[in-house]
Amino acid sequence: MEPDTREANPGGPAGVVYTRDELARRVEELGREISAFYRRKLGDESVVVLGVLKGSFVFLADLVRALDLRVQIEFIVASSYGDSTVTSGVVELLYEPAASLEGRHVLLVEDIVDTGTTLERLHVLLAESGARSVEVCALLLKEVEAFEEEARREGSEATDGPLRRPRWVGFDAPDEFLVGYGLDYSENFRHLPYIATLKEPVSPDVRAPGSEQAPPEGQ
Ligand code: 5GP
Ligand code: MG
Repeated sequence: MEPDTREANPGGPAGVVYTRDELARRVEELGREISAFYRRKLGDESVVVLGVLKGSFVFLADLVRALDLRVQIEFIVASSYGDSTVTSGVVELLYEPAASLEGRHVLLVEDIVDTGTTLERLHVLLAESGARSVEVCALLLKEVEAFEEEARREGSEATDGPLRRPRWVGFDAPDEFLVGYGLDYSENFRHLPYIATLKEPVSPDVRAPGSEQAPPEGQ
């Protein structure tokens, strides 16, 4: 399927990194792992699945349907990128969860963790919310080595540092700009059912490698 946004934006999806089927299989696995974790922890209580908009909306929709738990759903809006593909380092909170998180078990759902800046800011806010527990599930983790280095330094997988690795990660992602399955470039491409690298905008006579490559059939 060729995205119809391609003409409107010279930069379009190039190589597919995770197909629709790969995403579906991994989300099912995450659902089973998360359900097992919370069933032991919660008994009859529900978990608040807190999605970070907008990027997590597709992943969250699939993930909650793979959970065998009592679940409530809330959203938070955090913006760190503006229109650029390079992180600004500034995280703005544009919308807070409607329901109180006090005393609740919260599962924060993120599309992609890159430098960890957004996650660090959200951890601070959630600590202030009085949540009883906060766990993170990120579909993609980019700076894998930085997170592993931090964990080695702290001698543990879960530290209080800014680079605390999410408890659940769908995929260790390549350090490229990715779009699709909720991830955007200037609000485009969120609807794609697969995840692809972004082809940089090119002039007609300077074509990026892979720019002729169309996503495989059925994606
Ligand atoms: P961090 O604060 O960890 O550096 O960046 C996290 C946020 O940056 C993500 O929630 C996402 O909105 C954005 N981001 C990071 N890498 C990518 C990427 O490859 N593609 C897209 N579309 N957004 C990204
Ligand atoms: Mg995001």
